[in-house]
Amino acid sequence: MAKKHIIAMSSPSGGGKSTIARYLMRIFSNLSFSVSATTRDLRPGETHGKEYYFISKAEFQSKIKQGDLIEYEELFGNYYGSLKSATDEAIVNDKYLIFDVDVKGALSLKKLYPKEALLIFVAPPSMEVLEQRLRARDTETEEQIQKRIARAEMEMSQKELFDYVIVNDMLEDTLEEAEKIFADHIS
Ligand code: ADP
Repeated sequence: MAKKHIIAMSSPSGGGKSTIARYLMRIFSNLSFSVSATTRDLRPGETHGKEYYFISKAEFQSKIKQGDLIEYEELFGNYYGSLKSATDEAIVNDKYLIFDVDVKGALSLKKLYPKEALLIFVAPPSMEVLEQRLRARDTETEEQIQKRIARAEMEMSQKELFDYVIVNDMLEDTLEEAEKIFADHIS
């Protein structure tokens, strides 16, 4: 099957994409997370090029003008986005990248890299289960949980736009299914 260096993984928050991505990156040594660029300040313990490429606002804006942003957004006064230059370099070096993006970001990747992009949607088995998992993860406030669930309905309605939909019910089955898909598209 055709190799795909750009793998967009989308899911409602709490759907399980981080759990799946962490597992896959242990198995496939040439697979890693795509590093985004941001204008927010570097926090203690962070390294330029690891968590993010930390760049100035002026630099970010000039990259937007040059067309180097695959997709970007402004959050709380800072820019976040994926660099085309870094992505192109990964492809040339036969590295495989997972992009943790929303539906819009996944579609931007497909548009820019029609041959290289593989779009995977991770769906929770039901909204009830999604809510349970978000609560069990215990990383958000009640208000944030409600916002994530409201957004999840809209996200779920777009899953047909993806190449694969993995329903994350029993984790063991999910990981096996994901591993098979990746093995088909990664060398
Ligand atoms: P995302 O990265 O999509 O926001 P996470 O990978 O953080 O989601 O998963 C959300 C929570 O659900 C985590 O606490 C994770 O351990 C748990 N989880 C993920 N998949 C399953 C599963 N199949 N069954 C039970 N719990 C799961």
